[in-house]
Parts: sequence; structure tokens; C-alpha cells
Amino acid sequence: RQSADSPLYPLLATAADYYRQALKSHPARQVAVDYLKGRGLSGVIARDFALGFAPPGWDNLLKHLGGDALQQKAMIEAGLLIENAETGRRYDRFRDRVIFPIRDSRGRVIAFGGRVLGDDKPKYLNSPETPVFHKGQELYGLFEARRHNRDLDEIIVVEGYMDVIALAQQGLRNAVATLGTATSEEHLKRLFRLVPSVLFCFDGDQAGRKAAWRALEATLPSLQDGRRARFLFLPEGEDPDSLVRAEGREAFLARLEQQARPLADYFFRQLTEEADPGTLEGKAHLATLAAPLIEKIPGANLRALMRQRLAEITGLTGTSPNSPAASPVPRV
Ligand code: ATP
Ligand code: MN
Ligand code: MN
Ligand code: MN
Repeated sequence: RQSADSPLYPLLATAADYYRQALKSHPARQVAVDYLKGRGLSGVIARDFALGFAPPGWDNLLKHLGGDALQQKAMIEAGLLIENAETGRRYDRFRDRVIFPIRDSRGRVIAFGGRVLGDDKPKYLNSPETPVFHKGQELYGLFEARRHNRDLDEIIVVEGYMDVIALAQQGLRNAVATLGTATSEEHLKRLFRLVPSVLFCFDGDQAGRKAAWRALEATLPSLQDGRRARFLFLPEGEDPDSLVRAEGREAFLARLEQQARPLADYFFRQLTEEADPGTLEGKAHLATLAAPLIEKIPGANLRALMRQRLAEITGLTGTSPNSPAASPVPRV
């Protein structure tokens, strides 16, 4: 239903212009400018990502482009305005926040993220699903990465807007972020159409480690031979933004080359932590967990090698692709 000529596009573009202009000239802009500077961002990066500022107040955008009832309906549909169900009162969704426009692969603004300038909650606010914005498909920063380099060979997947932008600030202009959702098979299909290699670098916390395993699962159906995925696990409490700012570009790149684990390594390491390969019960459990996942890999060579590796660990061979681990035949 994503119509090429949706009237929401020009509306979203005008809103993006308004926020960008407000960051340059609104009387209340200084807090936002200081905030971005405090996070180490330059004017060039702010421009490249078209960062903006939603001033404090309930109706700045509404007044700026609110117009007639029809226009306001469209603004609600675009996620820019919220209508109170009981009172019918309409007000700006984004208030007193730094604004991150989300652009599609053609560079059209389709949604926004907004961050509070302090410690208020919620820290981030995103546009809702709209006719032109589908969270499960879009990747923040992909348009900007491709605009910078049409010929990327690896894309880094991170969790947050600020991770993408902080990496770009350090010259690593190939990062994208999922938009507050788990990495999906759709995301991976898109990425592997553009590059043969994807590097996941999530936050060094419980949520980040969980996100990494979900990303692995979403990657399996895209793993044709010739493609690879790697995982970089960060020290506890760090995210790509905090780490690249603390240690700098060169150290971050060195860490990446030394510590990024190939998907298959991570796969077996994780599963042998969950199921103890030192016991028969553990081996049985391991085979039950691993076999159906391995069968999702379309690359015949990688699939065969991972089956072989599983057989080496468990001593089991001959798991059937259709009913994986249903009746494994012991090796003689
Ligand atoms: P910052 O560095 O600005 O404090 P972060 O990006 O490190 O933020 P995380 O808590 O690690 O913040 O969250 C990662 C991403 O998840 C965010 O960039 C944002 O896209 C999304 N997110 C976080 N909190 C929320 C929220 N309350 N609502 C919607 N999305 C959120
Ligand atoms: Mn986190
Ligand atoms: Mn952060
Ligand atoms: Mn984070």
C-alpha cells in the first residue's frame, strides 16, 4: 500500500525542513545545539543526517503547517500530530526533542525519531507505523551510507540513532540501525542485496546480547555461500557510540578486526553454553537446538560444514533436513 505519490511525502518533507530550520534559528535552539555538540557531533554530520529540533510547546508544527481540517488529518496520518480521542484536541507529537529524520532508500523522509535533551522519559519517541513507514523494513542511516559510498562492501548494524551518527562522525559511514524493533529477515534481505558482509554490533548489555541472537536467526535464511555475517560484542555497559568516542576510530577498527566473530563461531559457542556438550543429554539438546537452525541456511556449502561441525560436537550424524534431530542415527 506504499503508494509512490502519497500526499504524506511532501508533508513529511515540509516537517523535516521545519525541524531543521528550527535547529538553525529558533530562539530556543541553543539547548539542542549544545546537546549535540556535547555528544561530539559536528555541523557537517548534523547536516548530512538532516538533524533537527522540535521546539518546546504543543503546537509549533501544527501552527506552522496545520492549515485546514484536511491538512490536519494528513498530519495525523503521517504521525506528526496526535489527536486526543476524548477531547479531539490535536497537538504535536514531537516536542522539545532533537529530531532524526528517517529516510527511505530514495531519500524521502518517511518518519522521525526524537530524543529528549535531558533524562526525561521516554528517551526516544518514534513515528508510528503509517502508510509510508514500516518499521520492520526500514533501516536508519541506509540512505546516508549509500549516498556517501555507492560501493560499500560491509554494513554495520547497530541499535540506535546515535550509534549510527557517532560512527559516521568518526568516518565510519557504513552503519545502520533498526528502529526500535528486532532485526528482521526483511532487513537482512535488503542488506545482502547491497553488500556481501554484515557486521552486527549491539550494546554490551543483556538486551544487546539478546538482540544479537535474534539477528543471527534472522540472518540464516540469507546466508548464501559467498556471504558472511560477523558479530562484535562490546564490553559491558558500552555501545558503539560510547566506545568509538572513548577509544577513537583506529582502536575501534582494530577491535573490530580482532574481535568480530564469524556467525558460525558465535552460533556454536552460544549453543554449547546453553547445552553442555560434555554430557549425552547436553549433546542431544544441542542437536535439537542447532539442527533446525542450520537447515535454514540456503548456502549448501556452509550448511554442510555446519552440519559437520555439529556432528563433530555431538557425535551424531544423519539428521534429516525435514525432521531435524527427530531420529538422529549414531555414527558407527
Ligand atoms: P542514547 O545514547 O541517546 O542515550 P541509545 O541509542 O544508546 O541512546 P538505547 O537505550 O541503547 O539508547 O536504545 C537503542 C535504540 O532503541 C534507540 O536509539 C532507539 O531507537 C530505541 N529506543 C530506546 N528507547 C526507546 C523508547 N523508549 N521508545 C522507542 N524507542 C526506543
Ligand atoms: Mn541498550
Ligand atoms: Mn547510547
Ligand atoms: Mn545504546
